[in-house]
Amino acid sequence: MSPRRIIIVGGGVVGIATAALLSEAGHKVTVIDRSGLAQETSKGNAAALAFSDIMPLASPKILLRAPKWLLDPLGPLTIRPSYLPRLTPWLWQFWKASLPARYRASIETQTALMRLAEVEMMALVDRAGIGAMVRHDGSLELYESEGELKAASAGWQQREQAGIAFEHVRGERLAELQPGLLSRFVAGTYVPGWKTVSEPQAFALALWAHAERCGATFEKAEAAGLERSEAGPSVRLADGTTRDADRIVICAGAWSTRLINPVTKLRIPLDTERGYNTTLPKGAFDLKRQLIFGNHGFVMTPLSTGVRVGGAVELGGLDLPPNYARSKSMLEKAATFLPGLKTTGGVEWMGFRPSLPDSLPVIGVLPEDPSILLGFGNGHLGLTQAAAMGRLIADLAGNRTPSIDIAACRPDRF
Ligand SMILES: Cc1cc2nc3c(=O)[nH]c(=O)nc-3n(C[C@H](O)[C@H](O)[C@H](O)COP(=O)(O)OP(=O)(O)OC[C@H]3O[C@@H](n4cnc5c(N)ncnc54)[C@H](O)[C@@H]3O)c2cc1C
Repeated sequence: MSPRRIIIVGGGVVGIATAALLSEAGHKVTVIDRSGLAQETSKGNAAALAFSDIMPLASPKILLRAPKWLLDPLGPLTIRPSYLPRLTPWLWQFWKASLPARYRASIETQTALMRLAEVEMMALVDRAGIGAMVRHDGSLELYESEGELKAASAGWQQREQAGIAFEHVRGERLAELQPGLLSRFVAGTYVPGWKTVSEPQAFALALWAHAERCGATFEKAEAAGLERSEAGPSVRLADGTTRDADRIVICAGAWSTRLINPVTKLRIPLDTERGYNTTLPKGAFDLKRQLIFGNHGFVMTPLSTGVRVGGAVELGGLDLPPNYARSKSMLEKAATFLPGLKTTGGVEWMGFRPSLPDSLPVIGVLPEDPSILLGFGNGHLGLTQAAAMGRLIADLAGNRTPSIDIAACRPDRF
């Protein structure tokens, strides 16, 4: 196959990993991003390479939990009231995807995607020579009662069937895995294969350095639209100039449909699950590994730059201002759970997870024009799945059968 000129719109971690894989395959790749490389959602996430996270958010369980969560305005899940009318079609699709048959099918796809994600990410890390940026110390999910652990057991059984190793821990073993936890946490689940990166933005930029060594280039510019002609597709920039290519790949995260809607009949129900956190300076706490407070909707991650505390889901679209009371509320909880946590000097952040209602990404081509490829919508897992996205887009760009069955990720599945 002859090398192609490929433009990727979006320089988040998905666009960057895709640029790396396409450049390695010999294509001439340019990434276009209005804010720079890894400056948006990929900048401040929780740093997990969560390869064992195969359970979709859209699930029968969440339908039971959501009403209670929604009663707490600063709890794990919130809907901004003014956004509710626009969100209704997404919520309808979310409900449909949560029904048992669809849920089981999503687990199957997510499991295959995660297997590919692990193989591809660890191989890319190796080729990029950045192994030292990956921590292999696993994760620890925490429960405040045996009942909570029991309620989570169906999910763990599912992971066991997928060959994922874990250990339920209590007492001394729990205290050894994370000293200093409040005694109200009576049990935990340790997942040894879970990994984190030293700092997500630095990690994404290190992947970019590899892509650049393979020939990829970057242009800081806003894509205002896509154009199609017999000569091939092009990107119209906000300054009125255009950039031509043989293939265009849309990796614009939560903003992707704003670009493709004018050139397609498809109406992909992409929305955003806004997430919040606070990054505390180094020395805030001696965190041994990522801690997951699942029932409170947040995690704590040890980073090279400090300790990051956050998570939560706020359904409020791309334009409403952030509500940093959410970051503060999670930080307060964290300080209660780990009494020695130093909570001063933190930096608050909000990011836009690009989310489809069935918790699966979009991978495919635009039905109107196969030279426009789509790779977005990884929700809570974009860092984890970035290299798999790159591999699958490279397969499509090279007219090869994708490495796994991606029928469930078709752009026209809704
Ligand atoms: C609080 C929080 C915690 C998270 N934790 C984890 C985690 O631990 N592990 C994990 O795997 N995932 C995690 N995620 C999810 C992960 O961060 C995202 O899935 C991932 O960053 C999405 O990457 P992306 O490249 O698709 O999007 P982005 O990083 O948002 O990049 C999209 C890019 O497109 C650019 N763009 C958009 N429109 C245009 C345009 N018209 N012209 C030019 N450029 C444009 C934007 O500037 C942006 O840079 C978390 C997310 C949040 C919010």
